[in-house]
Amino acid sequence: MSTLTRKMIEIPINEIKGIDRMFERQAEVDLENMPKKYASLVQKTREIAFSNFRIKGVFASNMLVECRQNENEVLLENEIKIYSKMMPILFEKSTEVVFYAITVLGYLEEEKKEKNFMEQFFLDAWATSFAETASSWLRKHISDMVAEDGWYSTSAWSPGQHGFSLENQKSLFQVLKPEEIGLTLSDTLMMHPHKSVSGVFGIGREKDERKIIPCDYCDLRESCPSAYQADDE
Ligand code: SF4
Repeated sequence: MSTLTRKMIEIPINEIKGIDRMFERQAEVDLENMPKKYASLVQKTREIAFSNFRIKGVFASNMLVECRQNENEVLLENEIKIYSKMMPILFEKSTEVVFYAITVLGYLEEEKKEKNFMEQFFLDAWATSFAETASSWLRKHISDMVAEDGWYSTSAWSPGQHGFSLENQKSLFQVLKPEEIGLTLSDTLMMHPHKSVSGVFGIGREKDERKIIPCDYCDLRESCPSAYQADDE
């Protein structure tokens, strides 16, 4: 039986670290030195976000049956498959795969209200910041929880990143059934609401000293505001 049975969680926004810093990266602003004409809008949208957004998450682990590096696939219990060039490498020392997803609720309702362009822009940046930092919070929450029982975690990857196609959202949704937290998948494999993050990471008893991080393989790394930074940990 796998270590983590499926669990839904309301993510405590006051425990999430780095929302403001992520907002600065997303909106390309310095909160300490904002031009006056934007400062009040940033503050207003921040208050809207912190008062009205809620974040829900869901996670579960599945036993790893076999990493088939030559076939670019990983076989899990219940005949769940991950199709990927990278995942058989990432999971080399793992014995289970953790699936997780988070979604920011309340943003779509705010997005529909009449706002000027900059207000909409800042609100969008807050929602993205909530999604990115909440997914890091959930990954750490799960890793810390299993670490108490002597499990190590790999880095996390999301469908659509290098060598891990979007097609894998299907397996992820099959395992997580995130519809129950209001998160659905379209025919084109897009998540709705769109301020959502899904991903996988491996866990195992043997520590893996390698750091296999998706941003290190990504052409967008130089310009991407969500790119991994060492001080994010
Ligand atoms: S650099 Fe940005 S787009 Fe590329 S993998 Fe990292 S977070 Fe994703």
